[in-house]
Amino acid sequence: MAARVLSRALALGAGPEARLFESQLAPEWLSRSLTSAAAAWGSGSGSGSGSCAAGSGGGGGTTTADAAARSPLLRPAAPSAAHRAGSLRHFASPPAFQGRALPASVKIVEVGPRDGLQNEPGVIPTPVKVEFIDRLSATGLAYIEAASFVSPKWVPQLADGGDVMAAIRRREGVVYSALTPNLKGFQRAVEARVDEVAIFAAASEAFSQKNLNCSIAESLARFGQVAEAAKAAGIPVRGYVSCAAGCPYSGAVDPKDAAAVARALWDMGCHEVSMGDTIGVATPACVTTMFEAAAQEVPLERLAAHMHDTYGQALANILAALQLGVGVVDASVAGLGGCPYAKGASGNVATEDVVYMLNGLGVAHGVDLEALLGASDFICAALGREPQSRVARALRARGGGGRLEAEQ
Ligand SMILES: [Zn+2]
Repeated sequence: MAARVLSRALALGAGPEARLFESQLAPEWLSRSLTSAAAAWGSGSGSGSGSCAAGSGGGGGTTTADAAARSPLLRPAAPSAAHRAGSLRHFASPPAFQGRALPASVKIVEVGPRDGLQNEPGVIPTPVKVEFIDRLSATGLAYIEAASFVSPKWVPQLADGGDVMAAIRRREGVVYSALTPNLKGFQRAVEARVDEVAIFAAASEAFSQKNLNCSIAESLARFGQVAEAAKAAGIPVRGYVSCAAGCPYSGAVDPKDAAAVARALWDMGCHEVSMGDTIGVATPACVTTMFEAAAQEVPLERLAAHMHDTYGQALANILAALQLGVGVVDASVAGLGGCPYAKGASGNVATEDVVYMLNGLGVAHGVDLEALLGASDFICAALGREPQSRVARALRARGGGGRLEAEQ
């Protein structure tokens, strides 16, 4: 496949980019992408002397040194000791892609147990959810949206949030959060000892009316009460802007409208605001415009990218966000969570796919891909279906990441 991609890149007349492809697809890169480097990455270190092509290029314009470092000819003929040990020190710091700096590290917010499972048609037994969350917390993920305290009438799949929170093995350093749409839900979340709560508002008036049965302004007023109660209780609040790029009822969303909702959530005390392409219609240019507008209202480092993969654009959109400096990415293992507005379509971007891309880019994230595949396998077996993650499917077909590494 590497050869095919490379020859296609060459056929398209891609000069420097073709070289970049070649070096990214070289065996040691594939090996690197699959190495369980969670410990090293968890320390936030992605730095060191850079001899590897895609890791260099450091942000600004291209220099002669950058060009030299990109040349595959200057790479060591044989894998260095660092490569063999799975060390990350061959990445330049900060990581970059096509001359644009990327964040040195990214926080992945795992939303599978909530955003993912709430879209499942059947009711999943509580012990399965508990085991799923425990497996996720063992992967190095530091943030898991574990439950929802919405009315059981709305989302019966998540009615057991309190039982789930009581039964999970809490791992130190992991934030377990829950969605809380109103004060009643917030109270239940507090009783369940969540570490953080999340609130949400739509950027589209039509979606707000259909989904929340109220205007955007009314929903913000309701969530303001939750934010206030959370502040009084000393519980951090995360905000979601849904339909930040497009709405299933009214079409394209003005980036200014999405930014205004982000600002309202920020003003009511959300420490982080996640911009959601809820129906997965955005493309990278659209995402760039959306984040540029949002960054006028909320500090960029407090924004998160929540991309659905309905049209296969999620990874490209996340890369666009990373290139702007966004350092928080929401993802759902196995791509759990369909799209209620496009039957059979993909849901959230798969965490495995995000991790694989970040590995290739040399961006630290602290997650062990093989452990993540274990969690993905577990939940897919429990649900009786295949993962939406292309990475999970590819690695499964090869018999797991370990085998790919052994092939080197
Ligand atoms: Zn989502």
